[in-house]
Amino acid sequence: MTARPEFDSTLYHTAVAQLDDVAKKVDLEPDLHERLRHPRRALVVSVPVRMDDGRTEVFCGYRVHHNTVLGPTKGGLRYAPDVGLGEVTALAMLMSWKCALMGLPYGGAKGGVRCDPLALSARERESLTRRYTAEIMPMIGPEIDIPAPDLGTDEQTMAWMMDTYSMTQGKTVLGVVTGKPVVVGGSAGRREATGHGVVHTLYQVLRHLRRDLRGQRVVVQGFGNVGSVVARLLSKEGCLVVGVSDVHGGIWHPHGLDIARLAHHVGESGTVAGFPGAEPLSNADIIEQPCDILVPAAVGSQLRGDNAGRIRATVIVEAANGPTTPEADVVLGERSITVIPDILANAGGVVVSYFEWIQGLQYHFWNASEITTRLQEVMSRTVNHVWALAEQNEVDLRMAALMVGVRRVADGYRTRGLYP
Ligand code: NAD
Repeated sequence: MTARPEFDSTLYHTAVAQLDDVAKKVDLEPDLHERLRHPRRALVVSVPVRMDDGRTEVFCGYRVHHNTVLGPTKGGLRYAPDVGLGEVTALAMLMSWKCALMGLPYGGAKGGVRCDPLALSARERESLTRRYTAEIMPMIGPEIDIPAPDLGTDEQTMAWMMDTYSMTQGKTVLGVVTGKPVVVGGSAGRREATGHGVVHTLYQVLRHLRRDLRGQRVVVQGFGNVGSVVARLLSKEGCLVVGVSDVHGGIWHPHGLDIARLAHHVGESGTVAGFPGAEPLSNADIIEQPCDILVPAAVGSQLRGDNAGRIRATVIVEAANGPTTPEADVVLGERSITVIPDILANAGGVVVSYFEWIQGLQYHFWNASEITTRLQEVMSRTVNHVWALAEQNEVDLRMAALMVGVRRVADGYRTRGLYP
């Protein structure tokens, strides 16, 4: 079995190494293992955009479907300067295990456009989004593949995607994307869902560890959709959020940051850097500061073999996708640091996306408390299942979560067989 050169990236190596490890644990047949290592299909597109200065710039876009054995595919759309086919493929694979772990009728997908969203005007972002949507049109649809927001994209991006798709169909198609604004068919609670799920998962795991959320010192890397909600909810639960960072740098306050004031500061200045009263720290330094809980909520491969030995948290909850490399996993395991894996910790987003998709297909909308109750029910059930499986098999939480996800996808393949 060889890794395909076109997918080469750190995150792809991480995802395949995780699959190879779990394949041994669950005695996966070699033929099935080989099928799971490759995406079902991948599309690379050129996205020409008329820029504000009159030039035309051509961006590179991707959409990858990892597998479709359990239903249509589901996965976010990422705008970032270093997005590539390997990273998008790895993220699609992780989405497969995540959806299966949560018991959702989806395969994994992911999309991306290589660009710096902060350097684009709103008009340029809209043009880019609409042209990208048109280019990947054959790959998406409510019964084919349903994109959602991820790094560098948001509710507005999803509204433009939905509108572009709908214009080509001559009717409004709510089910083509999730994470839309509520006014055009979004779900109550979707904006906060990933952060909400992270906090609920952390609460459940701490309960198993006989620890309380209250009083825990927390560091959050990334203050976007996910990181800012996690920081706000944890501080509401009585945690001390002592460190926060974003792409521009980090800030530190040993007695806890005022998250409401920080959100206001970010709203005005666009970054956490320069928050009055806090000490400035680099992004690299902030994750190595003394704390109880570390929440990576930004980009992948932040905890690696070269810095894992210096992490001082006792629990890491992976709000980001793929923040820990396999080398770091070994070091953190040897140091008895509990890692709550991405496919479990950040699954609240896709669970509420599933709720939004169902609501859109039925034109019947639920209220915020129905969403929260159902989300917490699904998350609690899955955390407890994963915890019990980890104890039974004497494996860490990542291995236990992957065992459930990979087994379900493999069962789907076994039951459906190989066409033709
Ligand atoms: P976002 O674009 O809203 O925010 C990203 C944050 O990370 C920003 O504060 C940005 O400044 C910061 N950042 C970017 N590069 C960084 C770097 N190199 N170092 C430090 N900080 C950096 O994105 P988001 O939606 O909050 O997603 C964050 C992570 O959570 C991603 O890994 C994403 O895949 C994952 N995730 C998101 C969702 C969702 O519903 N949005 C669901 C599941 C997982």
